[in-house]
Amino acid sequence: MAESNTYHTDQTGGVAVVHKHRTREWIVIVAASAVVLLVGSYVVPRILSLTWYRTPGKPLPSYPTGTLRDKTIVINPGHAGRGPGAVGPTGLAEVNVNLDVARRCSLLLKSFGAHVFLQAAGDADLNEVFWEAKRLQPDLWVSVHHNSAPRTWPIVLWRNRSEVYYSASKTTDAAKESEKAAQAIARHLGQHLGLSAQTFAETERKHLEAGTGTFTAVLVEASYISNPFQERLLAMPAKRELEARAICAGVLDYFVGQTRRVR
Ligand SMILES: [Zn+2]
Repeated sequence: MAESNTYHTDQTGGVAVVHKHRTREWIVIVAASAVVLLVGSYVVPRILSLTWYRTPGKPLPSYPTGTLRDKTIVINPGHAGRGPGAVGPTGLAEVNVNLDVARRCSLLLKSFGAHVFLQAAGDADLNEVFWEAKRLQPDLWVSVHHNSAPRTWPIVLWRNRSEVYYSASKTTDAAKESEKAAQAIARHLGQHLGLSAQTFAETERKHLEAGTGTFTAVLVEASYISNPFQERLLAMPAKRELEARAICAGVLDYFVGQTRRVR
């Protein structure tokens, strides 16, 4: 009897100890994961962004100041007057970044002699934006955006690349030109920002279709605002200037290439 009692006591005591250890292990694992997530999402991007983008980036192509003298370019800051667009992990609104990059871009293009129309905030909807653009009959329409990946999947959160969209329809000259403009801008976004840059023939975005009937139109998603590190960078004027320069360099190359093709 005595032996049996001792056996039971030991067994119960042992199990209790194991349970306690497991609970403690789980608390440590959960706490460590929380710390890793916090450091990964917020602290590391903040530290890295202090050392990046201090310099203004690559110089613009060395074309004469009158290169875009006879060109009319409409710059459309995405979502202007229609809401925040995408929102970064710590609350940076896409529309504000789009507006600043678009403004910087228009200044740079003007310095090469282009007639630039920056579509003002307060545009009611895309139809109105296009109606305005159609009236101006631009040589090029550029919509400036920043993309967002679904936030539910942590790996997707870190996605970052440059994307340039153009109409998939190749029925008009303007549509064919849109693809060439998209390629030139994507090439420079890749070189200036050090990101992978891709062009996409778009069938979903009907507004691109609407534009390309009469004028060359592209939509730029310069980078991903949903990426925590990228969001930190986009809050810095130097980074927004870098994006504007990349877009401007692409536009310059597109028009210079076009002149060469026509000759
Ligand atoms: Zn957008």
